[in-house]
Amino acid sequence: MPLAEKQLIQQIRRLARGGSSVVTGIGDDCAVLRVPQGHELLVTTDFTIENVHFRRDWHAPELVGRRCLTRGLSDIAAMGGEPRAAFLSLAIAEDVPQKWVDRFLKGLLALAQEHKVPLAGGDTAQSEGGIQADIVVVGSVPTGKAVLRSGAKPGQQIYVTGELGGAAAALARMAESKSRVRYSSHSTGYSPPEPRLGVGQSLRRRRLASAMIDISDGLSTDLEHICQESLVGAEIEAEAIPRAQVGRTKKQVALDLALHGGDDYELLFTSSAAVPAQIAGVRVTRIGRTVRSPGLRLIGGDGRPQPLPVRGWEHFRGDL
Ligand code: ADP
Ligand code: MG
Repeated sequence: MPLAEKQLIQQIRRLARGGSSVVTGIGDDCAVLRVPQGHELLVTTDFTIENVHFRRDWHAPELVGRRCLTRGLSDIAAMGGEPRAAFLSLAIAEDVPQKWVDRFLKGLLALAQEHKVPLAGGDTAQSEGGIQADIVVVGSVPTGKAVLRSGAKPGQQIYVTGELGGAAAALARMAESKSRVRYSSHSTGYSPPEPRLGVGQSLRRRRLASAMIDISDGLSTDLEHICQESLVGAEIEAEAIPRAQVGRTKKQVALDLALHGGDDYELLFTSSAAVPAQIAGVRVTRIGRTVRSPGLRLIGGDGRPQPLPVRGWEHFRGDL
């Protein structure tokens, strides 16, 4: 059974750190935040729902907590922003052990600490079943400088950070496995996603990205978002896509997982400038270009473009 609401909030309050943007954090009716002069606010909110985004028997609680905050921080990164404060609304069923909640918070707060993002509030409630967490991240960006999905022009290059398909490959391994190995770095060689805040900010400062999105639902799905918002099409080169290497043998994941697997939280952006191969310590790879004619195409080894189906994660279309 989890701790009673008041005790749980007290515990979170003890664990949470303040930060320079937080005038008043946990403990009052609202948090009071300081916004840097000449900045606009960024606000993003993301659910993490048991049996939709994670399974208690597959995912270590620390990883669920870490990913819960990653989802929010990654959205701030995709705008080129800086996170200022996070808010966690948590609904937990009576039968969830407090140990699970402790480990979830540990994972979430470790990532918060790494990026110096204070947990400045939230809400706590009993759920009718399972665990639901909503993370809100407030960030800021110099006025008018947020990098939008809508800024791509035809004839620009398309880039991606890091490697793709690692999260989907680890999930596929869990689904196949009969043993109760956990989806974690130990059992699958999978490393948890990193919100690419440094890369996003650097791209914005150096004006290198015309449009940007974080890949939360899969490359095909998120590239389509940029294309639809920017009114362009895209051609992706299959052989250029940086695929994750997983497991003890460091085997490269299947192309399909890199194209459509979600949960990698890498950045996808367009640019007409010369983009370095590494930004803020993260590999950056050119994977294709934007074109005038709408739709997505994949260029295979034979050099011929084929329509690229959009098969990333979409709610109400499948299950975990
Ligand atoms: P209210 O009823 O005014 O919403 P609460 O009793 O729900 O106040 O919350 C008290 C304080 O604890 C508030 O500052 C709130 O932001 C914070 N808080 C509640 N739940 C959480 C949580 N899960 N994580 C972080 N802060 C929380
Ligand atoms: Mg409340």
